[in-house]
Amino acid sequence: MSTKYIFVTGGVTSSLGKGIISASLAKLLQASGYSVTIQKLDPYINIDPGTLNPYEHGECYVTEDGAETDLDLGHYERFLDKPTSQANNVTTGRIYQAVISKERRGDYLGKTVQVIPHITDEIKRRIKLLGNTRKFDFVITEIGGTVGDIESLPYIESVRQLKWELGKNILVIHLTLVPYLSAPGELKTKPTQHSVKLLLENGVQPDILVLRTEKPLTKEIRKKVANFCNVDINSVIESIDVSTIYEVPLLMQKEKLDTTVLEKFGLQAKEEAKLTSWKNFVNKVKNPKQKIEVALIGKYVELSDAYKSINESFIHAGTANDCKVIVTAIPAEEITDENASVILSKYKGILVAPGFGHRGIEGKISAIQYARENNIPFLGICLGMQCAVIEFARNVLGLKDAHSKEMNRKTPHPVIDIMEDQKSISDKGGTMRLGSYPCKVKKGTKAFEAYQKTNINERHRHRYEFNNSYLKDFEKAGMIATGVNPDSELVEIVEIPNHKWFIGVQFHPEYKSTVITPHPIFVEFIKAAINR
Ligand code: GLN
Repeated sequence: MSTKYIFVTGGVTSSLGKGIISASLAKLLQASGYSVTIQKLDPYINIDPGTLNPYEHGECYVTEDGAETDLDLGHYERFLDKPTSQANNVTTGRIYQAVISKERRGDYLGKTVQVIPHITDEIKRRIKLLGNTRKFDFVITEIGGTVGDIESLPYIESVRQLKWELGKNILVIHLTLVPYLSAPGELKTKPTQHSVKLLLENGVQPDILVLRTEKPLTKEIRKKVANFCNVDINSVIESIDVSTIYEVPLLMQKEKLDTTVLEKFGLQAKEEAKLTSWKNFVNKVKNPKQKIEVALIGKYVELSDAYKSINESFIHAGTANDCKVIVTAIPAEEITDENASVILSKYKGILVAPGFGHRGIEGKISAIQYARENNIPFLGICLGMQCAVIEFARNVLGLKDAHSKEMNRKTPHPVIDIMEDQKSISDKGGTMRLGSYPCKVKKGTKAFEAYQKTNINERHRHRYEFNNSYLKDFEKAGMIATGVNPDSELVEIVEIPNHKWFIGVQFHPEYKSTVITPHPIFVEFIKAAINR
C-alpha cells in the first residue's frame, strides 16, 4: 500500500490538543493493524526547542537519536510505544537553514530563492521523508500553531500543494473549538465556520472536523457544521473534555474517527482495534486503589508542561502499582535546611528535577539532605542526580565547598565537572551529550532490581558529569556508582545502598516511559514510596 498522509491543523485557538488527537488517531490505526508515525511541524524560527526556556515552550523532549524536540513527540511515543526521531520534528528554522545552505552551495544558481516554491518544496520533502522510508502505512503530520497565523502560511500552502500531488493518499483533519456560552445556554459554531473559511481561503478543504467542546454536540449542531463547512455529517467528530488524555483514543473510537479515516482512504481495519490493555490502563487511572503524594522539586514548577514527561511517567508508574500518584510541584528556591522538614515531611517520595543554571540549587540540596537523612525514597534526575552527589560530598565527605563546575567554576572540589568533549564547545544549540547511550548496571543493586538486566540504554541531555577522580571516596563513604557507561566510564547511576531507596540517574528515564511500558525506575520509586 502506498503511504497515506494525514494532516492535523488547528483553528480558533491554541491548546485544543492537536497533539493528543494526532496521537489518539495514530493509536487507533496502530491497533487496527497498521504501522503509523507522527510528525510535528513547528512554525517558529528556532532550529529546535533545545534553546528555548521551558517557560516559553514547556519541556524539551529528547529522542533516541538525540534530537531536542517538541513535547508533543513525548505524547506520540507514550501513546504508540514506538520511538520517534529527528525526522519527526521540523521547525521553520530548520527549513530555512536547509534552503539557505543550499543557496550558499549554489544549488539554485541564477534563481531567486522564494517561499514558494523553495521553502514549500523543503517542507514537502521533510513531510515525505518519513513516508519514503517505507516503514509506515500512515504518516500523521501535526501542524503547530493556528490557521491564520502568518508563520503557519507556508505549511498550509504545502498541504494545498500535496493535496494535488498525492490525490487520494492525503487527508486533512481540522481541529476547532465549539464554545459554550452560558447566558443563552448554547454551543456556538461560528468560530468553527470562520476557521474553516480561513483554511478555504488558503485553498485547503478539510475532510474531517474534530470539534473540541465541553458539552455533548447535538445532531443539529453536527448538521449545521457539516452544512456550512462542506463535510458529511459522519466527518464531524466530537472531542469532549475528559479527565485524562489517555481516554481520548477511546472517545475517538466511539466517535468513529478511525473508521471514517480508513473509509476515506478506501481501507478497512486489518484487525479489530480492541485496545484491551489500553482500556485496562485507563480504568486503573480513573479508579485507583490508593493514593500517595510525592514532591517534585524543580525550577519551573508554576508550569506543568515544563516537566510533562515526568508527570506522565508518574501516571504510568502509579497504575503499575495500582495507585494514583499525586505530584506536588515545589519551587526549589523555597526550601532551606531550616524548613525542609516542615515542607517535605508529608510526602512519601521526593524527586529532584533536571535543570540548568544556579537558581534553586541550594534548595534542591537541602531537600536531598532531608531525603537522605530521613530514609525517604528519592529519585534525582540529571541535575537532580548531580545535586545528590554535591550534597553527599558536602555533608558526608565533609568537602564543604563541593559543587558542580556549572555553578561555581572555581570550586576547590568539582565533584561534578564538565565532560571532556564539551570543553571546546561554545555553540549552545544541539551541542550537549544528547540521545541514547548504553549503560552497564551492577548486579545486586536497586537499579538492577528495577531493570532486571545489566545492559540498558537511556537518553541523555547534559554537559556536566560525575567527576571520576572522587569515585573511590564516594564509594568508601556509602554512595556507589551502580550504572556506568561501558565505553567512557561515565557514571550514569548512583545509589546509597543503606538507604531505603535512593537513586540518582544522569539520564532521563522519563523520556522512555509509555502507557504499555512504564519506566522501571519510576515503577520501583513509587513501589518504595508506597512501602514507606
Ligand atoms: N545542567 C546539567 C548539565 O548540563 C544538568 C542537565 C539536565 O538536568 N538536563 O549537565
